[in-house]
Amino acid sequence: MNIKKIIRTLCLIGLITSSALANTNADFEVTRITENVYSIISPSFGLPTPENKGWNSNSHFVVTKEGVLLFDSGSSEAIGNKIKSAIKTITDQPVRWVVNSHSHADHWLGNAAFADTAIEIITSSQALTVMKKYGEEDVKFYSKVTKGTIGPTQLVYPTLLLTQGQKRNFGGVDVEFIFANDGHSPGDVLMWLPKEKIIFGGDVLSSDWMPVITGHGNVPNLINTLYAIAKLNPTMVLTGHGSATTAKSVKRDAYLLSSVWKQVKTDSKNDKTADETLLNIRAKLGPKYEPLYKDFTSEIERHVKLMYKLQRT
Ligand SMILES: [Zn+2]
Repeated sequence: MNIKKIIRTLCLIGLITSSALANTNADFEVTRITENVYSIISPSFGLPTPENKGWNSNSHFVVTKEGVLLFDSGSSEAIGNKIKSAIKTITDQPVRWVVNSHSHADHWLGNAAFADTAIEIITSSQALTVMKKYGEEDVKFYSKVTKGTIGPTQLVYPTLLLTQGQKRNFGGVDVEFIFANDGHSPGDVLMWLPKEKIIFGGDVLSSDWMPVITGHGNVPNLINTLYAIAKLNPTMVLTGHGSATTAKSVKRDAYLLSSVWKQVKTDSKNDKTADETLLNIRAKLGPKYEPLYKDFTSEIERHVKLMYKLQRT
């Protein structure tokens, strides 16, 4: 595994912060969002570890008249099976459709657990390309960092590719798919329930933690997507990591990212260094934003440095 690959893999897991929680024996508890929408929230945020057995991301599901629509299947087949058992505590209906929000391992390696009942596994073509490129390496990486506690995983790829803005009806539930135009990673897909006004954001949307920008994402497109989602005015925002939230968090992230992006642009033109920008941003934005995130202090430095890098390439 070369260094570039390691960095990519670390990015995909989200943020590697010292404050990452290392939850151990948490159950796959189901939280009811509305009458037919539920979340399974991982108490772990950050790296997969032997303690969390690789479970570091959220899954959400919609119970329809014709089966369950699952959004993200977890980091391994074993985790997928736990998600499957958790869904069974709510409904006898099988999972008929799986949506993978993006290509990062913690959002799709659980697909194999649903291969027996799913008629479609859904994502974008860009995400599928990345899954095919890195899937095997990702399984090995997750196995290594969890010291094998994650168990074996068979790769099961998506079978249905979406187009931007595609509308579907799953068992009587209207759904729209929104692309983030690579905001967080290539081919990110968000799922919008227009009647219920619920957005499933994957890693494009955040709640308690700073927005997850990556070296292979597109920050301006992420900012535009955040503004577009805020405009939809969702009553409930379901995220790839962290707890459920509201449109307020989406606006907060849009304002913060656009302020930092603009500042980096101006400073970089004026030959300032990333460290100077960071000092300036901490002074200007810290008082407002630090209390709004669990990891502002550590993450803002990564954001500024990464944005410098992205704007120079
Ligand atoms: Zn991700």
